[in-house]
Amino acid sequence: MEKNIWVLVEHRDEEIEEASLEVLSEARRLANKARASVAALVLGHSAEGFSDPLTQYGADKIFVVEHDLLETYTTDGFTTAVATLLKDHQPEFLLLAASVLGRDLAPRLATRLRTSLVSDCTILEITASGEMELTRPSCGGRVYATMACQTKISKIVTIRPGVLGLGKPRKGRSAEIVSLSVDLQPEVIRTASRGIRKVDREKLDIQEAEVILAFGRGAEDESTVEQLADLARLLEASLGGSRAAVDEHWITFDRQIGQTGKTVAPKVILCCGISGAQQFTMGMRDSKFIAAINTDRRAPIFKVADVSVLGDLKEIVPELINQFQSLSRQPDPSAGK
Ligand code: FAD
Repeated sequence: MEKNIWVLVEHRDEEIEEASLEVLSEARRLANKARASVAALVLGHSAEGFSDPLTQYGADKIFVVEHDLLETYTTDGFTTAVATLLKDHQPEFLLLAASVLGRDLAPRLATRLRTSLVSDCTILEITASGEMELTRPSCGGRVYATMACQTKISKIVTIRPGVLGLGKPRKGRSAEIVSLSVDLQPEVIRTASRGIRKVDREKLDIQEAEVILAFGRGAEDESTVEQLADLARLLEASLGGSRAAVDEHWITFDRQIGQTGKTVAPKVILCCGISGAQQFTMGMRDSKFIAAINTDRRAPIFKVADVSVLGDLKEIVPELINQFQSLSRQPDPSAGK
């Protein structure tokens, strides 16, 4: 039987989520080693607008399931549809991003299909014997656990977004587009969507954010905290922070980064007045670009930062606000082209 790796493609507002393209890139890399083929699974959308990126990032086949009940994500609808397809086609693996959707869907699928699930992986390898080895941070990032799936088919793996990165898109590849149908009845879906409202970027779940402004005890007082929130709005960044910021009640616990908080890997994180204790950095060290502002030149955060700014938040933050405000007032040079 041909080895198949399937990738569930998440999309929003007519765009494929970057986390899914990362998963697809990784599936391609693994499939090349394992001599397997890669199929991208798109639910609730046609292939239009999606086929080029999916092909270029590694899909050999694109399975498309257009169904009214799959246009918006529901746990029941997606579980039933994907489980049915996995049962019918029996790919060896289904890979998906460990996004909010992936974290919701993957355990349901694993339970429905009585198959294995390894979640939040950051390293995936094919061994000499052709087995997939999956490594994930464990115990708050202090150890890495390497696992293998014991079931035979439709093994489910979620991959932490932002860690493995995108592969190089390859123009000139081609993929077969295949329409699939599933029998999905409205009664299966036990929840009804009454509308979707976008949240402001600074309120976005820090694990979903591409840009994070994190602050700690060095913010010192409420007025600096308010200025940091203004700066976050200008940067379209989500607000996060250290445990000290939570202890001071400046942010809520769901925005704490670190060992006992959340692990994040945004494209950019700006750490303001955070010393960089190990318990904090273990939750953000996989961020793509780290900038830090601190008054202490020996602050450990500077050891992990790509850009270190030695200075006082009380002077630097108002200046950054001024600079970004004046930038946003300037006309867009690309407008009208
Ligand atoms: P501080 O360590 O007090 O650092 C404040 C920094 O601000 C200093 O470097 C200072 O130089 C700088 N500063 C001060 N004034 C200014 C200014 N005006 N301008 C610029 N810089 C300034 N912590 C977490 O964050 N997340 C966790 O999940 C977490 N889990 C933990 C689990 C355990 C079991 C334990 C024991 C601890 C945990 N901690 C965690 C706590 C952690 O050890 C640190 O105490 C905490 O991260 C410190 O937060 P901070 O950097 O904001 O504060």
